[in-house]
Amino acid sequence: MTQVLENTTTAATALRCKECGERYPIAANHVCEECFGPLEVEYDFSGLDPVSLKAQIEAGPKNLWRYAPLLPAKPYDRSVQGVGFTPLQRAYNLGAELGLDELYVKNDALNPTHSFKDRVVAIATAKAIEFGFDTIACASTGNLAGAVAAAGTRAGLKTYVFVPSNIEPGKILQASIYGATIVPVDGTYDDVNRLASQVADEFGWAFVNINMRPFYSEGSRTLAYETAEQLGWRLPDHVVIPIASGSLYTKITKGFEELIKIGLVKDQTLPAISGAQAQGCNPVAAAFAEHSKEIIPVKQPTTIAHSLAIGSPADGFYSLKIAQQTGGTIEQVTDEEIVDAVQLLARTEGIFTEPAGGVTLATLRKLARQGKIGRDEVTVLYITGNGLKTQSAFDGLIPVPAAITPKLGVFEKWLGQN
Ligand SMILES: *Cc1c(COP(=O)(O)O)cnc(C)c1O
Ligand SMILES: [Zn+2]
Repeated sequence: MTQVLENTTTAATALRCKECGERYPIAANHVCEECFGPLEVEYDFSGLDPVSLKAQIEAGPKNLWRYAPLLPAKPYDRSVQGVGFTPLQRAYNLGAELGLDELYVKNDALNPTHSFKDRVVAIATAKAIEFGFDTIACASTGNLAGAVAAAGTRAGLKTYVFVPSNIEPGKILQASIYGATIVPVDGTYDDVNRLASQVADEFGWAFVNINMRPFYSEGSRTLAYETAEQLGWRLPDHVVIPIASGSLYTKITKGFEELIKIGLVKDQTLPAISGAQAQGCNPVAAAFAEHSKEIIPVKQPTTIAHSLAIGSPADGFYSLKIAQQTGGTIEQVTDEEIVDAVQLLARTEGIFTEPAGGVTLATLRKLARQGKIGRDEVTVLYITGNGLKTQSAFDGLIPVPAAITPKLGVFEKWLGQN
């Protein structure tokens, strides 16, 4: 049986309603009983001295647990290894193409199951184990399924992943091979999520992004911590982040805010936080464009960026507010722009991302062209998933030459024609 490593502590003190402020004990609970608002983990960071905390972090493991004093869960022994501390790659070639002198790519496709979801799953699984659950589950647009499957089976938990049946076959294969039980559902992600919420209530399982959501979402803050640490404990000027439910987007922001509050970065202000959506599933970008506070759900998402296809985003409203308050923009891009951006990133930086990464880069390119990001601004592009899982999205789009016979003369002739 997997075990929590008890010699560590956490600064989490309560769950607190984001709307009315009501506090609840730390438990597998995500909705306020008073106002149905979402619950968020609250911490007491007052005892943390930034100088010694920084030293402790720098001496820590090269994975997300180096930030354990800032996390709501304790590490456990049968966890998937190597989650987090992914490279922040200086994007010389891409920057030159876009006219940005200080562009970085945070390549989170390099996590163990090839998406940033390993971070949120690490925290949610650790907490589920601490709470004594024997079954872990999720409603997924694809990548979460793989991350939960790997973490759940390795920890010896019963593992169920619910996915829309139309997602990429590579993602279904991945989740299956870890030995999780796949539940393909005929419907949109929102349909899957509704079913999963009922299952969570009925069966008492730990759904990482439903009843465990307050802990799950906190894992994304580590992306902000790493970015700052890798920049030499500085904050970037502008960041571009993909939005599905808006959890990643809001929690990277929260991470930056905490770095300022705790004093891990000095004399710094929040970056402009920009968000990226596909035109075929654009509820937050559409509200941003119309200066509206209301998110109108997209009933039938139609985009190759399946991992971002959440028509009714739980954190959409909070994402809108952040973009407006930080001077960021939330843009939308077409499937054509997505495919083009995937190829651009591959050819300039040697990173093959899935369509979600294409959404993020196409958005960055738009902002750069519109002059919304200055040439000398330190800018970070968050790449959240790997293209090898989504080969079906590029079927027929990338031509491969026909085979040749293994003869030098044939090759020489072929070279003249290619
Ligand atoms: C899940 C996911 C996101 C963002 O999801 P949020 O629900 O907004 O946190 C971004 N990129 C990829 C590849 C994902 O799988
Ligand atoms: Zn409330």
